[in-house]
Formats: sequence, C-alpha cells, structure tokens
Amino acid sequence: MSLLLEKHLFRAASRLATLPKSHPLHPIIRRAKRHYVKRHPAPIHHLLHRTGIFDTQLPYETIDVIRRRSTFEPTFSVHIPPDKQQALEEAKRRRHAYKVRVYSDGSGIDGQIGAAAALYINGRIKGKLFYHLGKATDHTVYEAELVGVLLAQHLLRSINQPFYRATIGLDNQAVILATQNQQPKPAHYLLDAIHSESMELMKKQSRMHTPTALRQPDWQPDDRGVFDLSIHWTPGHMDFTENEDIDGDAKTAAQGFTSPANKLPALLRKHPLPRSLSAARQANLADLKKRHTEQWKKSKRYTHRMKFIDPTMPSPKFLKSISNLTRPQAAIITQLRTGHAPLNEHLHRIKRSATPNCPHCGPGFTESVRHFLIQCRHHSRARYQMYRKLKRNAYNIEYLLQAPKAFPHVIKFIRDSNRLSNIFGDLETHPPKEQEAPNAAPQQ
Ligand SMILES: [Zn+2]
Repeated sequence: MSLLLEKHLFRAASRLATLPKSHPLHPIIRRAKRHYVKRHPAPIHHLLHRTGIFDTQLPYETIDVIRRRSTFEPTFSVHIPPDKQQALEEAKRRRHAYKVRVYSDGSGIDGQIGAAAALYINGRIKGKLFYHLGKATDHTVYEAELVGVLLAQHLLRSINQPFYRATIGLDNQAVILATQNQQPKPAHYLLDAIHSESMELMKKQSRMHTPTALRQPDWQPDDRGVFDLSIHWTPGHMDFTENEDIDGDAKTAAQGFTSPANKLPALLRKHPLPRSLSAARQANLADLKKRHTEQWKKSKRYTHRMKFIDPTMPSPKFLKSISNLTRPQAAIITQLRTGHAPLNEHLHRIKRSATPNCPHCGPGFTESVRHFLIQCRHHSRARYQMYRKLKRNAYNIEYLLQAPKAFPHVIKFIRDSNRLSNIFGDLETHPPKEQEAPNAAPQQ
C-alpha cells in the first residue's frame, strides 16, 4: 500500500512537472521546488520533496494543453499495409519506384537510447545522421523513433535539387499513427517538430520548383502538397536490407554516437532533449518494483511461509501457471499455498471451527495442508489416483504446490476427496465451456 501511494504521488508530481509556462500552477511549482520550506510547508512542498521529482539534471518535457487545431492536415501521407508480407512487398516496390528514399529507426541498447536515418538517392547512400538521446531512464525508444523521422526529414531538406516524390520507411506503426493526431501526449513536442520540419521541407522544394521568373514580389512559398512525401511501414526482421542496416545504425547511435551538431536539425543542435514523462514514470515503476521485492523478501510472510512454498515469488511465473485453471481451481491452489484453505487448522485459527483437528482422524491430528494432501488416511483412495500419475512426487508437498504439472492432479485429488466441495462446489478438471455451464454434473 505504501508503494502504491508513492506511485500515485509520483504520477501527480510528474504531471505538475510537465505543465507549460502559461499554466496558472507553473509559477507556484517553480517557487516550491527551490527548497523544502521548514516552517509551514504546504502539501505541494511535501509532494515535490517526497517524490524527488526535480532531482534530475534534465528539465522535463512540456506537455501543452492544446496543440494544433484538430482539423490540421499533415503535409505528408502515411501508408500502413495490412500485414507484414504485404508491407515487405510494398517496401520492395518503393525501392524501384522512388528515386529518393530515407529509412529511419530508433533503438535502445544497454540502457541507452539512440536514433539514426539514412538517405538513398538512386539506390546509393548519400547521407546518414545519428543522434544519441541519452539514458533509458530519461528517454524512450518511441521518442528515438520520432527523432529518427526528424533526422530523415532533415536529410531530405539537405537536398539542393527539386524532386517530385520521396518516401520515408520505418518499422514502427505506433509512430506513423501518432503523426495523424493532434492530442497532447508525452513526446508530442517531437511530433510538432516533425510537422514543422515537413512544412519547411515543402517550402524549400517549392522555392526550387517555382521558376525565378514566376516569383513576383508578393510570391509566397507553398507549404503543402508541393511534392509527394509519404511515410510507410517497413516491418522489421524481414530481411529487407535497408531496414536491417538502419537498425544497426540506430544501435550505434544508442552506444553514444552523434553526428556533428551543424548537420543536425535545430532542435537537436544545442541542448539535450528534455526528460520524457513516460520514461520518468517507467523508471519510477521499475524502482518501486525493486523496492517491493526487497520489502517482500524481508517480510515475515516470506521468511516464515512463502519461502518454503515458492521462493521465486513475486514473479509472473505463478500467475502464468494458473492461467488455464478456472477461478475456483486457481483459488484453492492459492489457498493451499498460503495456508488459507478452509481446512480445520486454518478455520480454528480464524475462530470458525471449534477444533483444529481432522474430522476423520480426530484428536492429535491437526488438519493442516500437509495432513490433508499427504497424510490423512481417510483420503488414501483419492491419493492413490494422484500417486499413479505423479509417483513419488505425490508425497512431496513442495512439488504439489509449485509444479504447474501437478495442479490438475491436486485439483482432481481435492475433487475426489470431497472434503471442500461444500465451499468450492464441483472443481471440474477442465475449464467449463460457456454454453454447457447450466448442465454441469450434479455434485455428489
Ligand atoms: Zn485426517
């Protein structure tokens, strides 16, 4: 619970940290973050201090409340074929159909993020740009993909000849789709830069397309539809050479390689990119998970009990192993593991049973999970069925409660023993089919 609270505090603080200057709260936050006042601190002082939200070198990205109007039309078209195979064929077709092609990619490796773009004219590489964004705790691969598109457009802008069509290939559908909306989201400042860069590209081409004679004093360069720029999806890992090459280049950039500043787009030239809200939240979540594991390994619940049942907890392993069980089946397995199954030992502890003893074996025999599963002679017939399948493992309580392979047999044992049927009903061995549920076999 305390970690959950911290997670929410971080969410709130990180939202405050990304507000634009024009927001009424902005000056208040700026004042509050300077120092943690000792006398009469307000909740905002506690929040900013407690979360350490501003204890980073990079400033946070700004997430504006509104961006362009919702009817804004990008100056490029996007193309996403329905599946990988068709996308690959389209990419191959474009290899011949387009004189000017650019491929871009973003990548994360060893906790570092980088982006790259390569320009092909008539099938030959005419330029490459690299940009190292920084640590994965400050930036996301998604941002790197956006920077890749920006680099691609900048390469197109460096061409000093008019051209009529150009294509940008990248292997990330999310990025391509993101260029089509104008909602305020993390990293949208990069999308805005992409749209601006694209318009500048159109203007430059427009100037070259229009003969000098036509440029009257009141002539304005066009900023859209001058030539056909399209961004298309080239799926990764499909042996498309340009894609595999740019993937390698993006990894080089992630390892810390950046092109000379004067070759880069203006946005990337001077300052490092601001810290990403998504990356900050991901880093915070990873930290909380780590702390949770540490706290759990120190807690009594772990050192006294769970360590003996499943030392790998917490891990997704157990959830995966019960994923094909029905809800009551998963419940009983969990209860047996934690010692909360409705057997007399537990029922007596929570004052729901007068005695902790086994109803069949009587005084001197506490009805514990071990007694029920392995020792109780009353269930030996049911246990024999389990023994036939699991052999010696049927007498190994760790195996019975840990191995996913054992679960169906344990469930069958519980079913055959009839001990818990008044609580769990009929624990069918197979998940019930939706249609047949009303006709389930009557319980014995
Ligand atoms: Zn017994």
